[in-house]
Amino acid sequence: MNIVVCLKQVPGTTEVKINPQTNSLIRQGIQNIINPFDTYALEEGVRLKEKNGGKVTVITMGPPQANAALREAVSLGADEAVLLSDRAFAGADTWATANTLSKAIARLGKCDLIICGRQTIDGDTGQVGPEMAEMLKIPFIAYVSKIEEIKDNYLRVSRMVEEGHEVIETTLPAVITVAKEINVPRLPSLRGIMKSKNAAITTWGIKELGVDANEVGLAGSSTQVVKIFFPQRVSKAEVLTGDAAAQVDKLLEKLKSANLL
Ligand SMILES: Cc1cc2nc3c(=O)[nH]c(=O)nc-3n(C[C@H](O)[C@H](O)[C@H](O)COP(=O)(O)OP(=O)(O)OC[C@H]3O[C@@H](n4cnc5c(N)ncnc54)[C@H](O)[C@@H]3O)c2cc1C
Repeated sequence: MNIVVCLKQVPGTTEVKINPQTNSLIRQGIQNIINPFDTYALEEGVRLKEKNGGKVTVITMGPPQANAALREAVSLGADEAVLLSDRAFAGADTWATANTLSKAIARLGKCDLIICGRQTIDGDTGQVGPEMAEMLKIPFIAYVSKIEEIKDNYLRVSRMVEEGHEVIETTLPAVITVAKEINVPRLPSLRGIMKSKNAAITTWGIKELGVDANEVGLAGSSTQVVKIFFPQRVSKAEVLTGDAAAQVDKLLEKLKSANLL
């Protein structure tokens, strides 16, 4: 079974600064981590491999330093790692990110299951998984909390929905995004850490992917960031006094004057 896990390197802090000229995050000098939701995707891929055989390939699109995330993934059980890095990929929106990732996955050859996290903690859109499925023209299931059965080209999962759980069957290959309820990610073993130090990381840019610079990165993005800013934190509290009836009257008056009634 060939499993591909998509993971993204994200800032490991909420104290990021914004470049007002480029409307992008200043990522230099901050510690990066594997997107926490993607650690569940990786763990599930490794568990499936341990149970059914096969291999897990981790793939990320990011700057050269994202190879640290891939090495960490190898220490946690991934067999192969692919870094998609090229200046032309910079400034990608979710569409261009999904396009680049799906081109790379197609280039990898036979793949049974693609596992993503439910969302990232920086971009936070949850769009990349479903967009990739659409581009690869294969089924997609979100918020998977349990893989109930997987064999040949058949998959049955339980997924989280607002009212509880839903059981869904599909054919493979497919893309799933996983909820954190699916497993408890392992810690790296000493053997894994040693293996990751010498692991070969394959790096692909636009040449290797055979894509035009116009269909990736900022040039291939159909959305543009017009402005990025921190929301102002404003808190204002007022204590209403008097007996309960007087407090209710004052509250109603305030709601009416704020056009909330
Ligand atoms: C116009 C525009 C410009 C942007 N410019 C930049 C920029 O210059 N620099 C920048 O860092 N960001 C930039 N972004 C943000 C960037 O587009 C998103 O971070 C990226 O597309 C992924 O979206 P997301 O973080 O919402 O992922 P989600 O859709 O929330 O991710 C879901 C899952 O998809 C997978 N995934 C997501 N991203 C990747 C990835 N890169 N590699 C592998 N797997 C992945 C993971 O499994 C993840 O859990 C820009 C966004 C826009 C709209």
